[in-house]
Amino acid sequence: MGEKTKYIFVTGGVVSSLGKGIAASSIGLLLKQRGLNVVLQKFDPYLNVDPGTMSPFQHGEVYVTDDGAETDLDLGHYERFIDRDLSQRSNVTTGQIYETVINREREGGYLGRTVQVVPHVTDEIKSRIRLAAENGENVDVVITEIGGTTGDIEGLPFLEAVRQFRLNHGRENCHNIHLTLVPYIKAARELKTKPTQHSVKALLEIGIQPDILICRTERPLSHDIRAKIALFCNVDVSEVIEARDVATIYQVPLQFRKEGLDDIICAKLGLACPPPDLRGWEEMVEKIYSMTESIEIAMCGKYVHLHDAYKSIIESFTHGGVANDVRVNIRWVDTEKIEQEGPEAHLAGVHGILVPGGFGDRGIEGKIAAVRYARENGIPYLGICLGLQMAVIEFARDICGLSGANSSEFDPDSPYPVIDLMLEQRSRTMMGGTMRLGSYPCRITEGTLAHRLYGSLETAERHRHRFEVNNAYRKTLTDAGMVISGVSPDGELVEMIELPDQPFFIGCQFHPELRSRPNRAHPLFRGLVGAAKAYKREHGGCDSSPSMVHEDEWREGR
Ligand code: GLN
Repeated sequence: MGEKTKYIFVTGGVVSSLGKGIAASSIGLLLKQRGLNVVLQKFDPYLNVDPGTMSPFQHGEVYVTDDGAETDLDLGHYERFIDRDLSQRSNVTTGQIYETVINREREGGYLGRTVQVVPHVTDEIKSRIRLAAENGENVDVVITEIGGTTGDIEGLPFLEAVRQFRLNHGRENCHNIHLTLVPYIKAARELKTKPTQHSVKALLEIGIQPDILICRTERPLSHDIRAKIALFCNVDVSEVIEARDVATIYQVPLQFRKEGLDDIICAKLGLACPPPDLRGWEEMVEKIYSMTESIEIAMCGKYVHLHDAYKSIIESFTHGGVANDVRVNIRWVDTEKIEQEGPEAHLAGVHGILVPGGFGDRGIEGKIAAVRYARENGIPYLGICLGLQMAVIEFARDICGLSGANSSEFDPDSPYPVIDLMLEQRSRTMMGGTMRLGSYPCRITEGTLAHRLYGSLETAERHRHRFEVNNAYRKTLTDAGMVISGVSPDGELVEMIELPDQPFFIGCQFHPELRSRPNRAHPLFRGLVGAAKAYKREHGGCDSSPSMVHEDEWREGR
């Protein structure tokens, strides 16, 4: 923790899904581009220790950090906006806080005392805020987003901790930002400020006076509306920030900049720094808006009705699009439907196919059929984690003649378990945090597609899986033409496979989407999108309706 570390807390009111994560990320980017060292952190007020044990249907994607923490998807936004790898310190849940406090109590850490929410739980929360600032470097600013909506019962200990933190660390070092909604009521033809007033009242009851209000709105906030909000909420008019709906989340920081948000924060916190350098970011946003060519890529998964489950992949497509100057439209394909109606009905006309990660056997045969469709039609294919495993199974069955080949995850009695449980996984009995998680180095085979894409013979990528390619079948697979293009440094684990007789066919056991950044698309996404663009130029195919890629939470709500 630097001597002069400053702390910004971002809360949300009125309704959930206002895009607090994007707001916090955007503030982070603006401050970082002013030369400050910024760390972002999220508090999640649920009792799970981490979201790893929750269904993506409940929680959306599980984002994995380099150090192997399973975290909230907002950490993905943080990393993409501030272009910095975060750690497990950046996601704190009620479950973690209580686990620590209760373990300490059992060890006798509070001997003789009654253990209470105030001060013991709130002390632990405050220590996590300080911990975020202690990463060996001088952190100038910690931005902490408090999940949930003001007024939620489970959020109270976090808000109480924020209130105390400001007392402990000085008003001049802490800043509260509150995100609210200013709805437009059609019948009255008016923007309404009352929900914001109520939300701020609820915060004041807890003892927190917001310093800045960021107001989500469909329409411009007039001076009168701003003045009204300022008067009732006890802030200056300049501290009422308009956050109008935009078509891409990457525009939000530019919008905040126009409103002078970062100037106000820096002035209040006494941060002397030059204006932000946003040239690269502006160019990227400009590009997103100006792309004229488009391609369509099929996303063949299970959670296709909940796009949050694939948040980072969707963003990676945008990054890959920026790198290739082409808009990527996603065709969401439920692989159970492929099982019922065949691949042609759902995949005809696409320029690329992606099978993402997943767990459980629902829709598995449809995924294998999607791989086969890609291979037989020369359509660019990227398989991520489960998508690599599906590609290996398909190849084993169809090319190696191993009928009934499968993963022991789905068919423990398969005659050919070409995908099998990793050795270290066999003795695991606990579910939470026990997969192969986090960043591991990968050795890339010379002369492969992977080598061309990465431009390097080594990389490190993030993982979240229990199963892997069964080494007993490596020779059978490679003899039949599959190339193993990435392995763990000891050569024991297959990390990437490809089919060299295809225009673009690659699978990875890791999750490349977790390392893609807006101005630096991940090589595999850059590659897939580039190959899909080339495929379209050669074969034509769908000119699909406008992008769903930019259907993001800033516009639509999460
Ligand atoms: N279910 C597979 C495994 O555990 C794939 C995991 C994933 O796709 N993240 O290995």
